[in-house]
Amino acid sequence: MSNNIWVVLQQREGQLHRGSIEAIAGAQKLAGETGGTVTAVLLGSDLGSAAEQVAGYDLASVLVVEHESLANYTPGAYIGVLAPAIRDAAPAYVIFTHTYQTVDYVGRLCHEVDAAYVPEVISFENTEGELLFKRPILTGKMQARVRVKGEGTVLLSLQSGAFPADSAAAGSAERVALDASGADADRELLGVEQVGGDQVDLSKADVVVAVGRGIGKPENLPPIEELAKALGADIGASRPVIDNGWLPRDRQIGSSGQTVAPKLYLAIGISGAIQHLVGMKGSGCVVSINKDPSAPIFNVSKYGIVGDLHEVVPALTQAVLEAKG
Ligand SMILES: Cc1cc2nc3c(=O)[nH]c(=O)nc-3n(C[C@H](O)[C@H](O)[C@H](O)COP(=O)(O)OP(=O)(O)OC[C@H]3O[C@@H](n4cnc5c(N)ncnc54)[C@H](O)[C@@H]3O)c2cc1C
Repeated sequence: MSNNIWVVLQQREGQLHRGSIEAIAGAQKLAGETGGTVTAVLLGSDLGSAAEQVAGYDLASVLVVEHESLANYTPGAYIGVLAPAIRDAAPAYVIFTHTYQTVDYVGRLCHEVDAAYVPEVISFENTEGELLFKRPILTGKMQARVRVKGEGTVLLSLQSGAFPADSAAAGSAERVALDASGADADRELLGVEQVGGDQVDLSKADVVVAVGRGIGKPENLPPIEELAKALGADIGASRPVIDNGWLPRDRQIGSSGQTVAPKLYLAIGISGAIQHLVGMKGSGCVVSINKDPSAPIFNVSKYGIVGDLHEVVPALTQAVLEAKG
């Protein structure tokens, strides 16, 4: 088996998923530890400009797999191409960005190529020649360091935001066409529906009041809306708030939501998971309210209020209104 690394990129309609560049950055970092080279793999149809973009990174090559059956993602077509290619080349690692699409097919791919899989990797460390992969467990409350036992290719999916895209080293890579004959779509795509949409553009807001799971229930939103009104702020949210249906999807901030850079960002009952931080780290001044003094959001906050949001928020609203006269 080689010590080379493959990175499988995600795209839709020729547009690279932003996690793909992060995956390249992560693969390059891993190659720095293992001494291997990095090869990118791009699947789809009509990949001209995406392949050109990828070829601008420091990679051994870009394997481009074009086939009409790959125009839309289906697990069968992806596995049909990737499984034989991975078996033939036997890279040490195959890296993916951790997305719903990846989760949809990588388990089956592991089975096909008889590989181990470490999902949601946020970092790795080389301890006396042995690689340990760090990943969150128990909904992010703890982190586990994982060692892969045995021989063979290891599949890794990198959590979004863990390896910044801007750390991916530029270069010039050769494009190589890869055999696409195994691409056999096992599902018929009836249509793609965009959930949410872009009705609210938080990226232009000067002040954002963002709520997290810490508010407990949607009935607790009105005091926060009052604070937002007093501050002239737009309301944003962490993902659990959206997943629970407490606010519409276009309010989500983070790696799978909007990226914001307001002058003032007020984080209320938000723990500060990496996927949230990537969406707001460009904010000018971050103020956080959290009852847990060790919440990671405080690490990126200029001002931190340790306390119960149900008490702090009304007091803050009153103070803002008084200050405004
Ligand atoms: C592929 C992927 C993509 C993701 N994309 C996103 C994304 O775009 N955006 C995003 O936000 N997340 C995203 N996540 C989820 C992310 O990992 C975290 O689970 C999420 O950000 C946590 O949201 P939270 O901080 O609101 O909830 P929690 O982590 O549960 O934190 C709640 C916080 O509220 C505090 N709290 C509780 N009660 C009170 C109180 N009464 N007063 C004060 N504080 C209180 C707690 O101390 C805690 O810190 C993604 C995850 C994955 C795997």
